[in-house]
Amino acid sequence: MEADWWPCRNGLDDKADSIDIYITNPAAYKAASNGLLQSETLIAGGTKKLAWWKHRYPIASYLVCLAVSNYSVFNSSVQLGSINLPMQTYCYPEDLASFQAGTYNVLNALQLYHNNFGDYPFIKEKYGHVQFGWGGGMEHQTSTFVTSIDENLISHELAHQWFGDKITCGSWEDIWLNEGFATFLASFWHENKYPYTIPGSRISEVNYITSQTGGSVWVDDTSSVGRIFDNRLSYYKGSHVLYMLRFKLGDSAFFRGLRRYQKDPKVIYGFAKTPDLQRNLEEESGQNLTTFFNNWFKGQGYPTYRVEWTQIGSSNVQIKMNQATSHPSVNFFALPVALKFKNATQEKTIVVDNTSNGELFIRNIGFIADTVLIDTECWLITKNNVSVKVPDASPPNSIQIFPNPIRDRFYITLRNLAASAASVNLYNAAGQLVYSTNVTLVNGSEYVEVPTQQLATGEYTLQIRAGNDIRFIKKLLK
Ligand SMILES: [Zn+2]
Repeated sequence: MEADWWPCRNGLDDKADSIDIYITNPAAYKAASNGLLQSETLIAGGTKKLAWWKHRYPIASYLVCLAVSNYSVFNSSVQLGSINLPMQTYCYPEDLASFQAGTYNVLNALQLYHNNFGDYPFIKEKYGHVQFGWGGGMEHQTSTFVTSIDENLISHELAHQWFGDKITCGSWEDIWLNEGFATFLASFWHENKYPYTIPGSRISEVNYITSQTGGSVWVDDTSSVGRIFDNRLSYYKGSHVLYMLRFKLGDSAFFRGLRRYQKDPKVIYGFAKTPDLQRNLEEESGQNLTTFFNNWFKGQGYPTYRVEWTQIGSSNVQIKMNQATSHPSVNFFALPVALKFKNATQEKTIVVDNTSNGELFIRNIGFIADTVLIDTECWLITKNNVSVKVPDASPPNSIQIFPNPIRDRFYITLRNLAASAASVNLYNAAGQLVYSTNVTLVNGSEYVEVPTQQLATGEYTLQIRAGNDIRFIKKLLK
């Protein structure tokens, strides 16, 4: 990229360690810039004004700013821990009332981000809004330019102070470290202020992301500004990759990982690439994220789930997780998937950690379900998921015992028995009955847990009878 208007070393590999900006303008106007205003002096016989702004944090060239207009200026402040941070607004006089009315949102967002993502990065100076007329916003360091006090806009641009300004993407290939994060933090602001809007907005965002079958968060053509700032991929898919990491790692490890990234000596007040984020999340969570980042940063597309499930007895389900992918760059997306089982009066959500195609799970949901819904909170980037209740494919009269040898308990699966009830009896080596239970079968099936922590070590005989014809005997060792 080349500089448009001021000569500088303009790249993603070096920051100025501090700046002083001197602006001369007609005396009727005010000039805004980065950092703190040191002085305003009338010069040229009172016809002109000289403003001196000083900023003492490292800053990338594209985050240096100045603007001059007939600004109205007002000051606010916000308590961040033990620091009372000044907030300064330069807005057009005709918009003074709306900026004064809306600034409390950014003060609240400052506290929210400060508490969850680490200290406000420029806490020794200030945060500021400067109104301009270009459209949208620009996250200049400590001095965000905005067209209006719109809440979506200011929560996004504020987020860049952490993700974009303090830590700047080290390559345009990694622009999601700026824009995906700012989108995610703005959603996080909404999640905290308007939680009821989140399910709907996540669904519409995922529909947008999956409106095409391909496209990576990684920018594969950095010669194209349109590709770098692709709204679907760099902003929304980037944001939802963070959602998936949050779901996979859990809130605690995820947010700790982000705070660790914010303090990482390798990137602090400098530049980061995607492996820098990965390293911090791995170190905080203890999980290996190589496959995740291969699939979701460089890989393209998304999974479509077909969940086949079978009720086993009164409270268990067998689940088979099948997946197709939308793009050949990824064969399989390994993800935790939330499944909500329901009937008319009960529901339970479980999470299966699905690591291979066709993987089988058995889970105790505690009731007989009639439906399963997939990822109802929309944590994942997926599309066209279906769930199908399938009949139990076990052979007739299947009885399985595991584990053997037994420890504190063992399990019996009774499937497709031609009976409505079964009796289970366990005898010790002397022939004494040590455990007995009667089981009501649901569609010929039930999943039985037998507690055995009280039993001495030795050999046991398990006897199961069902109906007139079914008689099952097995030796067990403890
Ligand atoms: Zn942005």
